[in-house]
Amino acid sequence: MGEACCVGEPNAEYLLRIADFGLRILPASRRRPGRASERVPPIRNPQSTLRNSYRMNFPDRLPIPDEVLKIAQKLESAGYETWCVGGAIRDNLLGLDNHDFDLTTAAPPEEVRKLFQRTVPVGIEHGTVAVLDRHNRAHEVTTFRRDLKTDGRHAVVEFGVSLMDDLARRDFTINAIAYHPGRHEWRDPFKGVEDLERRLIRSVGDANWRFQEDYLRILRALRFSARFEFRIHARTLEAAKANVQGLAQLSAERVRDEWFKGIATAQRVSKLVALWVDVGAARIWLPEIREAGDPKGLPVGRGRREKGQLDKLPRDPVLITAFLAGDPASLLIRLKSSNKDIERGRAIGQWRDKYPDPKHVPEVRRWLSAVGEHADDLIALLPALDTSRLPTPATDRESFRVSRLPAVVAAIRAAQDPLTLQDLAVNGNDLIAAGVRPGPDVGEVLQRLLAEVLEDPQRNTKEYLLSRV
Ligand code: ATP
Ligand code: MG
Repeated sequence: MGEACCVGEPNAEYLLRIADFGLRILPASRRRPGRASERVPPIRNPQSTLRNSYRMNFPDRLPIPDEVLKIAQKLESAGYETWCVGGAIRDNLLGLDNHDFDLTTAAPPEEVRKLFQRTVPVGIEHGTVAVLDRHNRAHEVTTFRRDLKTDGRHAVVEFGVSLMDDLARRDFTINAIAYHPGRHEWRDPFKGVEDLERRLIRSVGDANWRFQEDYLRILRALRFSARFEFRIHARTLEAAKANVQGLAQLSAERVRDEWFKGIATAQRVSKLVALWVDVGAARIWLPEIREAGDPKGLPVGRGRREKGQLDKLPRDPVLITAFLAGDPASLLIRLKSSNKDIERGRAIGQWRDKYPDPKHVPEVRRWLSAVGEHADDLIALLPALDTSRLPTPATDRESFRVSRLPAVVAAIRAAQDPLTLQDLAVNGNDLIAAGVRPGPDVGEVLQRLLAEVLEDPQRNTKEYLLSRV
């Protein structure tokens, strides 16, 4: 693209800034308006994006939702320059659906709060106010800002700067493109559109410096690379590797959010994992997923065959993390996951080598009773597991397991076979009335009765069970 680095008439300030950045701007006569044939065709699958060698151009207009347009217009009428920026611009240029347009404005946060009736100060110290529209949808409005001081985790920001300053503090060129929703002008001082065309993740400015300002950007680079299947520019990648130790300073919550978001959005999860391993982020935050000394980063205890299966798993970040980790619970504890997620990980670690034989229905019932709420996770993992690793040697039996177990489980559930103590036709009081000594004996007898019922659900009658006390 090159020539069409911006559409619309740049103002003087813009031209000066562009000169500051050492970028070239062509006279209006040599800039070509975006012709339909040159525009990015709508695509659903980013994998197929921009492979063709057509030249990307800015579309004449972006489909800005009415509510966003109204907010921008109100700010502009009050005298504050306001632009759309960030992920939605990038995604729309890629032809991907994204109606979540963020706005960036010259209005200080207090002004934004005064101008709109319903706002939420979601990140007021960084200048972000959410404006609620009449459908209660939140639209983020952030004041033009510049980072004054950073420590790799937090930034002290300054307002009252220009759009160009604001774009300059953004992480990657493809995230630093602005569109004026009223005038349909574009600002792309870092040639983000060229990088979209070349399928490149590239830091705005000096990558070393930008990562040192905020180490989370390293993980964001990996996420965007896996999501769009874009390469990371050589210098950006080099800087990511050189600064990877800085990730240790980040809070576990931010790292977890990035990792989970990456799993949810990657084209192929295996690619995301390879990037985390290659850059060294896995060594710091996810050591359980790579075998010590294995540069390819095959997960601990997981066979080679399983690696290729990773991409077949449902996009459930906890399930996938647990699948990859030798010790899922310890990894999820490090990431400060919720107790519920840690328990899911623990159960997966504990049970993934102990599947029942679906030919033996009582065995499946006992397994369901033991694994409880984790059965569905374990079933979801089955297609990805290297079943040759399971204890029983006969391979036909193993593949039988994979294919038959879900159906057998479904049949047991449909029949509502009793699986827990609560499902038994007798309770503790019944046992005491029948002469069992109150105390631990009651629990023991109930367990014994449950074992009988798991063997044969027909036995679950009060009469039969009391006869067995
Ligand atoms: P997503 O689809 O994940 O929401 P996004 O690009 O919209 O992608 P956000 O985290 O929503 O990402 O951030 C919005 C914009 O804010 C980004 O496009 C980028 O311009 C800027 N941004 C976000 N995080 C950072 C960061 N850590 N450093 C610099 N700029 C950032
Ligand atoms: Mg976003």
